[in-house]
Amino acid sequence: MPTTGFSGAPSPERAAPRPARANDRPTVSFELFPPRTPQTLEKLWTTVEALAAVRPDFISVTYGASGSTRQTTRDLVRELLASTSVLPIAHLTCVGTSRDEVTAIIEEFLDEGVRSFLALRGDPPAGQPDWRPNPAGLTRASELVDLIREVEAARCGLSPSQALRGAAHRLSVAVAAFPNGNPIAGSSREQDLRALQAKQDAGADFAITQLFYDPQHYLDLVRDARAAGITIPIVAGLIPTTEPARLLRVEALSGIRVPRELLAALEAADSPAQRHRVGIRASVEVAKAVLDGGAPGLHIYTFNKHEAALDLLEGAHLRGGAPMAPPPAGRPQSTPAQPDYISI
Ligand code: FAD
Repeated sequence: MPTTGFSGAPSPERAAPRPARANDRPTVSFELFPPRTPQTLEKLWTTVEALAAVRPDFISVTYGASGSTRQTTRDLVRELLASTSVLPIAHLTCVGTSRDEVTAIIEEFLDEGVRSFLALRGDPPAGQPDWRPNPAGLTRASELVDLIREVEAARCGLSPSQALRGAAHRLSVAVAAFPNGNPIAGSSREQDLRALQAKQDAGADFAITQLFYDPQHYLDLVRDARAAGITIPIVAGLIPTTEPARLLRVEALSGIRVPRELLAALEAADSPAQRHRVGIRASVEVAKAVLDGGAPGLHIYTFNKHEAALDLLEGAHLRGGAPMAPPPAGRPQSTPAQPDYISI
């Protein structure tokens, strides 16, 4: 399992003067959700091209908790693999599916050439009060990390070629971390730290945080994780704070309260352009504070829009801007679907 010397406060190694190297750049990554209609697929591809042009370290693609986006998540991940040079990370949830079915889905992704997963438990689908977890399913993300590792090991055990491929393209498994506890799951910061420890023990390589508005919440999480013996890198998940209606919707879905002063400042803006500037300024402040505190990377919740995500990066001096080849013609169309997880 990889370890890192990273701690919430700047470490002596970070403070020591030495020439900056290209790989000192914090990682930059984005979250997308699969398109819900064929019409939104075209629009999404404009976003993908704009995001890919800054050479992100990866783009993650969300997955419905009840498996409703199985096909569309797979289609988008496949397209990212086929048409861009970006590493896709496939989110995978386990709460609504039997162990056998999750195993089959992992196999499908591996067959497609996917080498990175974000292993999640998932939440009950919204608006279905009678919904129950699958009785033959996994109940925790740490069990899913275990299962992904198990499936990969079994495949490598069956074939020397597969084992070689696995050694050359090592499988990576990311997990979620929660700076403010997880109000939707009803768990405290301490419970989620224990869950993060279990995910690391199961073989997680790194964590991505739930969104937060106060950089100190991220820094405290990392400090407490290090004190608890959690050594995996913890990437800061950021939401561009430009659209008050979206922030409130995310608050309802995630339980993460939007600071009322931020909402007031956004609502007081006298034009959309001014609101955008106010929102970007606020998110850039958060980004700079966590980077100054030692965050190894930023993961931006894009809501399938690139403008605010790229402006945030620009403000944090992390926008690369390398040109990218256009995608090959004749991309397959995704099947319309209603994801039950949008992006939080
Ligand atoms: P778990 O780690 O299994 O935690 C679930 C609950 O069990 C928590 O209350 C936790 O505290 C408790 N628990 C687990 N293990 C332990 C332990 N060892 N000791 C004590 N308590 C424990 N949802 C989707 O449906 N689709 C997505 O694509 C998606 N992407 C996400 C991406 C990110 C970056 C984040 C932060 C969240 C995402 N979610 C997604 C939401 C996520 O599925 C929910 O927040 C879910 O409630 C928790 O998921 P988990 O993977 O952390 O679960």
